Amino acid sequence: MYDAVMRFQFRSRVPLGALCFFGIAACAPAAPAPVVPASPTAPANVAPPSASAPVAQSGPVDSSVAPCDDFYGYACGPWLASHPIPDDRGSLGPMALLYEDMLLKLRAILERDAAGKGGDDPYAAKLGALWSVCMDEGRAEDPKPLARELARIAAVKDGPTFATALARLHALGASPLLTVSVDTDFVDPTLPIVTVNQGGIGLPDKSYYAADTTDPRKTKVRADYVAHIAAMLALAGESPNDASKDAAAIMAFETKLAALSIERVAMRDPKNQYHATSRAWLTQKAGGVAWDAWLRALGLEKTTAFNVGQPTFLTGAASLAHDTPPAVLRAYLRWSTIDTMARTLGRAFVAEDFRLEQSLYGARELSPRWKRCVRAVNYAMPEAVTVPFVKDVLGEDGKARASKLVGQLLTAMRANLTTLAWMDDATRKSAFEKLDGVVIKAGYPDRWRSYDALDIAGDSYFDDSVRVRLFAFQWEAAKLGKPYDRNEWFLSPATVDAFSRWTQNDLTFPAAVLRPPFFGGTMTRAMEYGAIGMIAGHEVVHGFDDEGRKFDARGQNRDWWTPASAEAFEKRTDCLRTQFDGYTVLEGVHVNGKLTAGENLADLGGLETAYRALMAARRENPDAGGRTETDDAKEMFLAYAQSWCRNIRDETLHTMVSSDPHAPPKYRVNGTLSNMSEFASAFACKAGNPMVHAPRCEVW
Ligand SMILES: [Zn+2]
Repeated sequence: MYDAVMRFQFRSRVPLGALCFFGIAACAPAAPAPVVPASPTAPANVAPPSASAPVAQSGPVDSSVAPCDDFYGYACGPWLASHPIPDDRGSLGPMALLYEDMLLKLRAILERDAAGKGGDDPYAAKLGALWSVCMDEGRAEDPKPLARELARIAAVKDGPTFATALARLHALGASPLLTVSVDTDFVDPTLPIVTVNQGGIGLPDKSYYAADTTDPRKTKVRADYVAHIAAMLALAGESPNDASKDAAAIMAFETKLAALSIERVAMRDPKNQYHATSRAWLTQKAGGVAWDAWLRALGLEKTTAFNVGQPTFLTGAASLAHDTPPAVLRAYLRWSTIDTMARTLGRAFVAEDFRLEQSLYGARELSPRWKRCVRAVNYAMPEAVTVPFVKDVLGEDGKARASKLVGQLLTAMRANLTTLAWMDDATRKSAFEKLDGVVIKAGYPDRWRSYDALDIAGDSYFDDSVRVRLFAFQWEAAKLGKPYDRNEWFLSPATVDAFSRWTQNDLTFPAAVLRPPFFGGTMTRAMEYGAIGMIAGHEVVHGFDDEGRKFDARGQNRDWWTPASAEAFEKRTDCLRTQFDGYTVLEGVHVNGKLTAGENLADLGGLETAYRALMAARRENPDAGGRTETDDAKEMFLAYAQSWCRNIRDETLHTMVSSDPHAPPKYRVNGTLSNMSEFASAFACKAGNPMVHAPRCEVW
């Protein structure tokens, strides 16, 4: 449950949300995929898609693989063979190609702005200045901006000075010791609340810190991480000896924070995400941090109500900070600063930063600077740089058509709920209310936000990044005390993904994903339902997954299920948990059925719903070309599978299985389709075939 708009990061090694569609840690709103994107020149055999040359037909299939044995192999074999992973990526799939094309389009906009040819765009000058200062690699070598920032930390000697320095980093979007954000209040979702969650660790999951791990890869990553911290501190001016001593102390500190943290699977329970607390609670139960000084430094001194997601963590983390010598705290905050700002620093920092990415995701080569700068501007001023982009790739007609298609998925879900045998009428009534309350956000915002208060000086990339981060924090903080604007977007329309937020009961489909091979161009109706239709169905069903079902039509965290319906649902979900636990990804590495339960439920329910919506569309508008239901079904399932083809390096796969709530694509495709009788009948699969799962898991 993360609205977390405040968590404005140019980077995030920790996947934050379980809400998005594509995964590999790209889920966090406003956070980029840590998998480093591809090189400027795609491999020779890859034709990057573009709006002018949409990918329209189903791709070729591998006819040596029987669809009923391994549909993913059948549908993706040729694509996988012809799309090797570029050196600067950890994986490659059709959505990554869309992402690459999006980067090129934004680059053209930024180059035009930087050349003073932005026309009447009110933010062209700011965009151009931010782009230019980011691209100026030589100027980033200036050590003074980082030194000034680190000088603030040198003042830390006691509780209040530590709290003040900690708050500065939180306002910059970093998460030392804890994570702070302005999020929805689970009890009154019309209002935002200051939310404090567990945080403070730099590796993707607490399991990396467990000394007794039998996983050699995690042991290696841990050693790489300590060496990385030491190298970064040394680059910032510490002697090699001090840097290794500090790195060891920082690792010990983070290991204690990891031990206090709740596991990812347990975090799926809203009970582990919300505890209404007061300022008095903070002082009494987590008195190890000087909260008054912290709030003052954040400009939140008037705040009296908080959501503390994991009270036990906060109590423990505060006393840990209290009991840690100031010299170690200073080292920890220095590390947090360097880590957060690494990409705005000189070449040596950037290269060392990339070394850890390599260890975690296996990319072989740093992506070119222009791509990193496009990403940075897209996260800094998303609703300025994307204005020409959305006109180009989607337009008003596309936005309207996409909204309509998502509406059709909601209608199909409603029709299904009407006849669902295991749900009783009381629960059904509340489910209808929830569906009726959904806000659809397709393409781009109806009203664009203002960046008038953001100052871009163009003096140094570091300093401008600090301004951008503080602006983002203040933007979120300004929402406190006022009702939410339900039309506001919380991420860039240039995001290749789709999102569902339970506390806002909204669904977001950014313009960057509303393109072929997901939507539009010359795609057939059946293909669109298999690709974007399935994504829309997936997001709709998230509102009813193991987490989403605990939020009502208004977004309030409330149990609206009768015990009988809840039990029937859980029993059906268990079937999927067991099924996915059974998949072996790499030797000794299995999919985690519990961690991926919500996504697997959304995939199965989403594809079922998309199928029903396609059949409803057929009834309403019979196909003039004489296509049979089976023709459409086959094309739809193929489009679904082919939107998922993805080559993945072992390192990325490994990190994904430990920390991503999405199962790897092959299992999302085969695991989902093997539960669908409609798939089995379209391809004439029989009981006993690998693509016919026994028992069949059926939820929606
Ligand atoms: Zn999802």
